[in-house]
Amino acid sequence: MTTDAAMTELITLIKRAHALGTIGELLAWDEQVNLPPGGAEQRATQQAALAAAHHAAASDPRIGELLAALEGRQGLDLAGASTGQPPGRPDSDARPAVVPQLDDDQQAVVAQARRDYDRATKLPADFVREKAAQGSRGYHAWARARATDDFASYAPVLEKNLELARREAAYLGFGGAPYDCMLDKHDPGLTASVVDRLFGELKRELVPLVREITASPAAARAVAAAEKLCGFPLDGQRAFLREVTEAIGFDYSRGRIDVSLHPFCSGTGSDVRMTTRYKEHQPLDALFSSIHETGHGLYEQGLPAAHLGTALGIHAGMAVHESQSRLWENQVARSLGFWRCFEPRWRERFPAQTAGVNADELYLAVNAVEPTVIRVDADEVTYNLHIVLRFELEKQLFAGALAVRDLPAAWRAASRELLGLEPASDREGVLQDVHWSDGSFGYFPSYCLGNMIAAQLWYRVLALRPAIEEEFARGDFSWLLGWLRENVHAHGRRFSAMELVRRVTGDTLSPRPLVRYLRERYGGLDRE
Ligand code: ZN
Repeated sequence: MTTDAAMTELITLIKRAHALGTIGELLAWDEQVNLPPGGAEQRATQQAALAAAHHAAASDPRIGELLAALEGRQGLDLAGASTGQPPGRPDSDARPAVVPQLDDDQQAVVAQARRDYDRATKLPADFVREKAAQGSRGYHAWARARATDDFASYAPVLEKNLELARREAAYLGFGGAPYDCMLDKHDPGLTASVVDRLFGELKRELVPLVREITASPAAARAVAAAEKLCGFPLDGQRAFLREVTEAIGFDYSRGRIDVSLHPFCSGTGSDVRMTTRYKEHQPLDALFSSIHETGHGLYEQGLPAAHLGTALGIHAGMAVHESQSRLWENQVARSLGFWRCFEPRWRERFPAQTAGVNADELYLAVNAVEPTVIRVDADEVTYNLHIVLRFELEKQLFAGALAVRDLPAAWRAASRELLGLEPASDREGVLQDVHWSDGSFGYFPSYCLGNMIAAQLWYRVLALRPAIEEEFARGDFSWLLGWLRENVHAHGRRFSAMELVRRVTGDTLSPRPLVRYLRERYGGLDRE
């Protein structure tokens, strides 16, 4: 068998497993968008059956044989492969190690396939089924608990999810550091100590910066301006956000947007599913959450289609994914240039609702900073503190330093410390996020890391294209999208988030560009 034949067979097998994974994503999308309430148990059964099929495909022993051969360890004889041992030296194994000549792309594919195969084979099939069914039930338990503000009914679900997470970490060899396992799942190679260092530096800069910004005269005017925006018909909002997301480059022939309780983006390649939610008196909410999800969608649509499912055609991890959504949502859509393009179209669509708001007020409203207890309602400055809060609580939960029953009180205390606000209910506190309901621990940090990466990418963009906002003002976002396609999307998962940032920006990841960006944008609001 030649190396090329082994690669071809390996890729066929991992693409098949990936395809089954995408069906699971589609079922999960459907569950949050279309599923009648009575269908929850049935859907849990479907998800569990599919998860078992996915697990069987991903742990196919043939993948293990091909990987071992391609890694030059043992097994199949690959014709044309060179021996990795100097001639005449005894090998510790019975069989000579053979190192096939793999190019960089093949090495990336093999490394990712090894990671996936190890995850699949180290997790018992029973465990995978149990976790999938629990994830589906957990979501519905969370939705009910949130609706009725009843944390006590949700606590056993969280306990169970934590127990499953610890078991998963132990299976995967992270027994001593289960939280690192959770982080690594979303961002390969990421550890709690790295996040601790980056968040520590950010928190030191950000807490005083938030005080400075919220004390400025512009902040009060911005909040007042945002409050003037009310009574925006949902149909008009839907049409306007479609116009905006299409203009920045989302291809609706390969994706769609629907309504769900919690906005998200799933799917990949030529079928990207985004969701949003509409509020009549907060029209910027659906708009910005849609632009955010569009950033995710553009990334998925920009991954090399021919390599879908292999390391060359999947995203580089959630931190990079979030950098794409944040960059479009914040650096682009909160800029003056962006609104020079879209303000006239917005006024045209909502003449009565916008009559009492001048251009300056609109720009202020778009950039209003006001601490809130709800993460998804937070402005881009205080948002990061919401993430620090969740990171610190997750760390304590996994260290056994915090019990689930004490979570609501710990949440309120952390909210007071970081945001200066205490949620009035658990519904506005510990129950506000969907993530923990299906066991997605370790996901939150990627939001804030994404903000850091977005700011660092943005300064690279400005160095290359100082007048890019002029292009935005003309409604032209093509250079930026092309640059992201070439420098981020096209690489798939060839590099870790840290390595990608270094390659594209020439610097290691740091919170400093984010702090600089926030100072420049929010310092610039006091123009009068
Ligand atoms: Zn996101």
